Amino acid sequence: MYRKKLINFLSLPSPIEEILFDGQLFYLKRDDLIHPDFSGNKARKFHTYLSNDFSNIEKIISYGSNQSNAMYSLSVLSKLRGWKFEYKVDHIPEYLKENPHGNYARALENGMLITDSINITTEQNILYVEEGGRQSEAEYGIKILAQEIEEWKVSQGIRELNIFLPSGTGTTALYLNKNSSNRVYTTPCVGDSEYLKKQFLMLDNNELNHPIILNTVKKYHFGKLYKEFYTMWQNLYSQTAIEFDLLYDPKGWIVLLENRELFSEPILYIHQGGLIGNESMLPRYERKYKNIL
Ligand SMILES: *Cc1c(COP(=O)(O)O)cnc(C)c1O
Repeated sequence: MYRKKLINFLSLPSPIEEILFDGQLFYLKRDDLIHPDFSGNKARKFHTYLSNDFSNIEKIISYGSNQSNAMYSLSVLSKLRGWKFEYKVDHIPEYLKENPHGNYARALENGMLITDSINITTEQNILYVEEGGRQSEAEYGIKILAQEIEEWKVSQGIRELNIFLPSGTGTTALYLNKNSSNRVYTTPCVGDSEYLKKQFLMLDNNELNHPIILNTVKKYHFGKLYKEFYTMWQNLYSQTAIEFDLLYDPKGWIVLLENRELFSEPILYIHQGGLIGNESMLPRYERKYKNIL
């Protein structure tokens, strides 16, 4: 009963909308709309922890960056399920401690305990979650995403489809490609192609399951501010009235527009949420570029 109630919170299947951007028609999978507090690919990756039993669990332990979308989603999950949540970060800047905002502030409000050391114990009641949710348990929810796309495709009479989404750990792109009859394209946002390839191999050593990696002409570093990212984000908003995330989506759209051979088939772009992260990214962009743009 309890779990059934939780799962009813999620609006699934998420809608697929048509948008016109840069003169081109795209289909957009609105995973940002799954739930106001539990959305995007983190909702997909952690779906199994809502739908399945895990009744022996009392605490989640995870680690990663101090503004991570995964951290926030795990705080929501822990709160919903009545679990404790311990999260390890290497560093919290003084400024953030004094002015909590974005994912960090919201996760603390949900009861997250921040630590700088984690003692791996053999206790049975702890769920360890890899940074960014890079683990095989993610496949459960991403398979549901693949099925939703499949059913939509059939209902629309679409035969061939190219799917695109930007990657961090590559977990979402990999399991989507594995469970889909369509070709999945992605681009690395966190490291380079070599890094992303390694991430894929950690999850699945069958290269036939790996998505196709596309690269931008220019090299970008994760978390850095680029004028063309900000203008891409603004253009997306002004042409579609949809807010995208500022960390992954700008590079995603840049690479997509640089690879127009993909437009030979209908294109489905996956909106993977992450909008609370914009609360910390947007002021940084505005401080840097407001006066020159
Ligand atoms: C986490 C995240 C990604 C990266 O997902 P991976 O499965 O790690 O590749 C992309 N976009 C958004 C908005 C995210 O929050």
